[in-house]
Order: sequence, then C-alpha cells, then structure tokens
Amino acid sequence: MNIERIGVIGAGQMGNGIAHVCALAGYTVLLNDVKAERIEAAFDIIAGNLSRQVARGKITDADKDRAMNNIQPAKSLDAFRDVDLAIEAATEDEKLKKQIFVDLCPRLSKQAMIASNTSSISITRLASVTDRPERFIGLHFMNPVPLMQLVELIRGIATEEETFLSVQALVKKLGKTSANSEDFPAFIVNRILLPMINEAVYTLYEGVGTVEAIDTAMRLGANHPMGPLQLADFIGLDTCLSVMQVLYEGLADSKYRPCPLLVKYVEAGWLGQKTKRGFYDYRGEKPVPTR
Ligand code: NAD
Repeated sequence: MNIERIGVIGAGQMGNGIAHVCALAGYTVLLNDVKAERIEAAFDIIAGNLSRQVARGKITDADKDRAMNNIQPAKSLDAFRDVDLAIEAATEDEKLKKQIFVDLCPRLSKQAMIASNTSSISITRLASVTDRPERFIGLHFMNPVPLMQLVELIRGIATEEETFLSVQALVKKLGKTSANSEDFPAFIVNRILLPMINEAVYTLYEGVGTVEAIDTAMRLGANHPMGPLQLADFIGLDTCLSVMQVLYEGLADSKYRPCPLLVKYVEAGWLGQKTKRGFYDYRGEKPVPTR
C-alpha cells in the first residue's frame, strides 16, 4: 500500500522526531498529542532541529520550509480520517496505548495501517484490541530520530506481508535501515541495551562507583559514546523502568529485576533530561551528578 499521509500520536521526544523525518521525506504529517501544549512545543523543537541540519549543510533552507509546511497540528484524532498510516508514539504504558487504539480505529479509513513505536510492549497484544491486527506493526525508531540510522520492524502474529512491505518501504524512503525482530519483550536493541543500563544503576546502588565513575568507565573503557547513566537520562527513566518491567514480567527471569534505585528516581519524578533531573541535574549550565 502506498503511504502519503501519516498521523503521529504523541508529540514527545519520539513523536516530534518521527514527524520531523517523515515531513522531511515529503510525507504529509498530522501531529497529535493529548496535551495541546506538547504539540506547540514539538513544532518549535522540530524547527530548531531542522535549522541545525541546515547549519550543518545536511539540508537546505527550502528543505526546511517544505518540511515545516508538511506538518499540521491535530488536536483530535478526528483529523486522522484519511491518513494511510497512524504511528503511535505516546507514553510507554500498555493500558494507555490500548485505549488510544480503541479510540483511533473507528476514526480511520478501513485500509489505514497502524504502527506502534513501543520500546518493549507486545505488538500482538496491542494489535489484539484493534479491528485490524493484520494491518498493525511495530515500527521502533531510535532516539534521536533524525540522527539514528536504525528502525526495528516487528511483526505481530497477525501482521500481513503487505503491511510489512509497505512499512519497510517507508523506512527506506526515510533514508534509514531496518532490522527485523520477532515479537518478544523489548525486541532486539532494548533486550540488550536496557539490562546494561539497569546493571549500571545496580552498580551505582551498590556503591561500586559514582555516577561520574560509571559513565567515565563505560565511555573510555568500552568506547561507548555516552555513559549508561547519561544514556538512561537521555532515554527517560520512566521509559527505562517500563522496559525493565516488561522484560521482567514477560520473560519471568529475575535477571531483569528493575533496580530499586531506578524505581526511586521515577517515583521522585526525576525522569532525566526531560524533567531536568535524573542521574544528573540539568538545571544549571553543566550537568551535575545527583549521586
Ligand atoms: P515522552 O514522554 O517524551 O512523550 C510521550 C507523549 O505522549 C507526551 O507528549 C504525552 O503527552 C503523550 N501522550 C500521553 N497520552 C497520550 C494520549 N492518550 N494521546 C496522545 N498523546 C498522549 O516519551 P517518548 O520518549 O517520546 O516515548 C514515546 C514512545 O516511544 C514510548 O512508547 C517509548 O517507549 C518509545 N520510545 C522511546 C525512546 C526513547 O529513547 N525515549 C526510544 C524509542 C522508542
């Protein structure tokens, strides 16, 4: 199926990145969020990120203007009646995502496809609450979307080949590379990455090292571009915790037990960069470790 119009649900860090790359590739994009101010903020963030790409010589001013013109705010899902693909990038919470799909389905055209950007939740389970599990797929972008090359494609048990091929072609048109994952908790990247981050939090919790020592050790000792605690703040500690809970419950193995210190940070509302505090405090000029 040919995709021309894309609706994005959730205008947070992932939703604005997905809208950005789709608009830049020439698609018409409708951007929805339950909070109107998040949509407004997303337009400013996208404009800023496109300007940065212009300054780096990656795109022209005309590309930027065209991309911005391709994005429209959608205060309600009613605006999604003629989208070919709806991409859900709302908060990582199974109940919340299922409710979105229940509300969304009656508003879509019969042939429209639905993708979820979930980091960890079963695509088969999410698809089961829709009226079109055969046209439902996992489309897992990486953060930050404009910079990261990979998109994971996850077929649910009912996903049809036509849906898979349409979405695979979309990823190619976005200039990105796809990797296929089976529908198991957290798929490939997060199945490997999040237990490492959780282990870094345990390392901190047990006093093996400070925030600074752990991040320096992994940057310089394992050649990672970011330390694991800095990366956790970047991803969002709520998202990290949700992924660990999905791994723990979905695979029933104690090795995925979320670290109590990670739980404590989330309970405090210290969710990382997006709330200005996590393993680092971002309120000043330079990030300062909080432990
Ligand atoms: P975020 O907190 O930045 O944004 C989530 C947005 O969803 C918020 O703006 C919120 O208002 C909105 N939202 C909540 N309920 C909604 C509803 N009912 N309808 C419409 N919008 C609603 O989170 P994020 O980091 O952008 O994550 C979004 C999704 O992408 C999650 O499923 C997450 O697991 C996944 N993801 C995140 C990362 C990452 O590194 N942060 C990477 C890949 C995938």
